[in-house]
Amino acid sequence: MISQLKILGLWWSISTSESVDTNGNLGEMRSTKLQIALSPSMAVAQQGEVLLHEIFEAIVCQLGIKLEHSKLQALSASLHQVMVDNAEAFSAISANEMPIVQLPLLTSIPTSLP
Ligand SMILES: [Zn+2]
Repeated sequence: MISQLKILGLWWSISTSESVDTNGNLGEMRSTKLQIALSPSMAVAQQGEVLLHEIFEAIVCQLGIKLEHSKLQALSASLHQVMVDNAEAFSAISANEMPIVQLPLLTSIPTSLP
């Protein structure tokens, strides 16, 4: 279990909390405490997506961006999907080891289709 995350330069604690369940949520972003709380009863398969959602909530809050919750949900769920489907690439990106692909230079631009 991750216990801390650095988000835009601030350390946030990550923990489970029964009160999240009591409030009927899977996760909560508590900006004044720099805390993200997750439901302890949530399925393991949901944890990554919910954590990423709360990270988005923290970023939006820290930046003072006004973003409808439905759009935030769509963005966080989509990014989570891309990260899960491309785990190796995201591991390389986070380690600053993303290989640079050399594309051949175009010597001339085709002017007509065959
Ligand atoms: Zn939310």
